[in-house]
Amino acid sequence: GDDRRVPYEVALLPGDGIGPAVVDAALPVFEAVADRHGFTLETTVFDWGSERYHSKGTMMPDDGLDQLEGYDAILLGAVGDPSVPDHVTLNGLLIPIRKGFEQYVCKRPATLFAGIESPIQNHTDDIDFVVYRENTEGEYSDIGGREHRGTDAELAVQSAVFTRTGTERIVRQAFEAATAREGKLTSVTKSNAQAHGMVFWDDIVNEVHEEFPEVEVERLLVDAASMDLIRRPEAFDVLVASNLFGDILTDIGAVVSGGMGLAPSGNINPTMEYPSMFEPVHGSAPDIVGQEIANPIATVRSGAMLFEHLGESSAAETLRTVVENHLADAAAPRTPDLGGAASTTDVTEALEERIE
Ligand code: ATP
Ligand code: MG
Repeated sequence: GDDRRVPYEVALLPGDGIGPAVVDAALPVFEAVADRHGFTLETTVFDWGSERYHSKGTMMPDDGLDQLEGYDAILLGAVGDPSVPDHVTLNGLLIPIRKGFEQYVCKRPATLFAGIESPIQNHTDDIDFVVYRENTEGEYSDIGGREHRGTDAELAVQSAVFTRTGTERIVRQAFEAATAREGKLTSVTKSNAQAHGMVFWDDIVNEVHEEFPEVEVERLLVDAASMDLIRRPEAFDVLVASNLFGDILTDIGAVVSGGMGLAPSGNINPTMEYPSMFEPVHGSAPDIVGQEIANPIATVRSGAMLFEHLGESSAAETLRTVVENHLADAAAPRTPDLGGAASTTDVTEALEERIE
């Protein structure tokens, strides 16, 4: 865009577990690509996460959003630690950033690259779809007072909120994405069992469809969609789903396209009013921390999405091509999740060499 700032200011939230390792590994790759395309990145590290929770009582400071607001984008490694309850991690950092910065699109591509084996051996020709997950409301809403766990420990109430604004904007983004891709959109709901929120969602899909008559719309219940992502993954182009369903579908997407070590993600505010946040789909992976075997490619691909969002499309393209060529090269180093014996650093260095 015209108002872009160069150098770009990027806030780094390396976080917990393998987060710092993959961010450290990806950064020199991003810098090499930026250099080749004539811009620079100015990064600031924020040490928010589980360690801070233990020492200060919160995952991030009270004015955390104010501190991040001026940045062009945010790169997150991962947050979460076995010593901190998952709902604290989610509600103490990830959800406030996603909601506070109106990052209402969670975009998660699932592309099977040449050279990568999918567990679904007979469908490996054309796995290339993207999930648009609603990222600010739905099942992850908190409507003060209504949600509770009964004091007698015999009851808990958890609701979901679907607003017209919130639903329309994610659905419209998904239609736009489908228009730019193969013109096919799959809306995933559970309208048979959830007759209010999900039927409302269906109605809005119908309304927005009128603006995009050329897009073919398919509707699937989430149980059928989960099955079909395994049975016929090549049939999908763009999927749109609520916060919870989108989360589940994107784990399936990650595994059919080569695993957690490869899957990128963007929490995107399409208005650019606030910074967007890019992060690998995977979590902090406590089981492999400190072993130097975390695959940095999910983070590198998240960086390609970050560059695209900043308007640096040719840098993003370079990054995507570098990853694609690296994965297609049988002699290139691979971390153990992809069947190799290479370290995180080996992969980073190989990617850097390809950029030069
Ligand atoms: P979260 O609760 O944060 O989603 P999780 O418990 O679901 O975390 P992940 O961190 O997503 O777990 O990891 C799931 C599995 O995938 C783990 O066994 C982990 O070792 C593996 N894994 C995740 N990320 C990577 C990576 N970058 N490289 C290699 N293996 C990974
Ligand atoms: Mg997980």
